[in-house]
Amino acid sequence: MSNVEDLDKLDHRSPVVELVETKAHTSGAEWLTRYSTSLMGVFGTPQRVLVRGAGCLVWDADGKEYLDLLGGIAVNALGHAHPFVTSVISSQLATLGHVSNFFTSPTQIALAEKLLALTHAPAGSKVFFTNSGTEANEAAFKLARRNGASPDGTSGKRTKIIALEGAFHGRTMGALALTAKEAYRVPFEPLPGGVVHIPFGDVAALEAAIDETVAAVFLEPIQGEAGVRPLPPGYLKAAREATTKAGALLILDEVQTGIGRTGKWLATEDAGIVPDAITLAKGLGGGFPIGALLTFGERTSSLLSAGQHGTTFGGNPVATAAALATLHAIESQRVLENVALVGDYLRTGLAAVGGVTEVRGEGLLIGFDLDADVAPAVVTAGLDAGFIVNSPGPHTIRLAPPLILTKDQAGTFLAALPALLQTAKDAQ
Ligand SMILES: *Cc1c(COP(=O)(O)O)cnc(C)c1O
Repeated sequence: MSNVEDLDKLDHRSPVVELVETKAHTSGAEWLTRYSTSLMGVFGTPQRVLVRGAGCLVWDADGKEYLDLLGGIAVNALGHAHPFVTSVISSQLATLGHVSNFFTSPTQIALAEKLLALTHAPAGSKVFFTNSGTEANEAAFKLARRNGASPDGTSGKRTKIIALEGAFHGRTMGALALTAKEAYRVPFEPLPGGVVHIPFGDVAALEAAIDETVAAVFLEPIQGEAGVRPLPPGYLKAAREATTKAGALLILDEVQTGIGRTGKWLATEDAGIVPDAITLAKGLGGGFPIGALLTFGERTSSLLSAGQHGTTFGGNPVATAAALATLHAIESQRVLENVALVGDYLRTGLAAVGGVTEVRGEGLLIGFDLDADVAPAVVTAGLDAGFIVNSPGPHTIRLAPPLILTKDQAGTFLAALPALLQTAKDAQ
């Protein structure tokens, strides 16, 4: 359960903050001045300087409290400073922290087995661990390049990879090639070649695009960065049929939707298909960085052979222990039931708010549209009122809170939303 009632038992300031502070207290504004002179500007100006968290709450450098309805963008599955995850990470670090991939460790093996079991992976399935979502997709991109390639190492006739308009798969060069948004891609061209983007959710366009030159199709079950847009019913089944017929891999990017986010372990659990590969990251480590590529079945799992891919940190004992702890806590505390319950409550409540024109998503991955282009102003009004939300588009708000969010906490946001919308519209 969430430990939001036990705040007094936590240290209010991190030892690291004390270590770097020269005065008794540094304000948020002072931290941001230092930020802007020392950190690269790719993220713009951060909205707040956060110093501690507990459950679904976080506090900034000026002592202001926020209900975190974004969860580090679908990362903090169990909220902040979850006592069990924290203690498992600390004791693993105090036992064995890093070993290199010349060696393995029990936590790495146990996590691979656990993920294959949770995803009902067929016999012969395998796992490759990474540190992030983009690296998991990078590994999947390399896997796709080996589909249809000859054993002597030369690549084959399958030169194309299909992704969807609106897709977001990450920021490194391979994952960026799969990502659709021009503003992200164009400044970095030439990107790894052969990626074709086809219209979102259009089965006829998919069937027309797939032939024997296609190595793989990459799909997000729900496009998160594009504003929480679910694939239409039947699309995944059609994609499975078309890829199987052409010998192309079907690769599902569940980096944002996986690990309980939708109330199920995988968003695609009930879709009635078996993919060739799945990528995971965000929620997997409960806030600790870790990603994974799961390859389904013997044939796909043997596409990358010894020496063809690697990583220094991926799958290290601490990250894999964090993920094991996260999965254990989700299971033993029946968190998925909470996700379904609070998700339904939020969606029903949001649909009843004036000015909300559409509500999308599943479980605790929610997108809702507004009747005016005021989403960034709603984010600002939310911060001032003590709520962290996100605007993936000019009229779209995204919520991806910790999976332990309570109905009462969700209710405080529903009650506050009409005033936030009014404040945002007044600011226009
Ligand atoms: C966030 C995200 C990624 C990239 O993950 P990083 O850990 O930021 O590299 C890839 N795919 C999807 C669907 C995502 O939401």
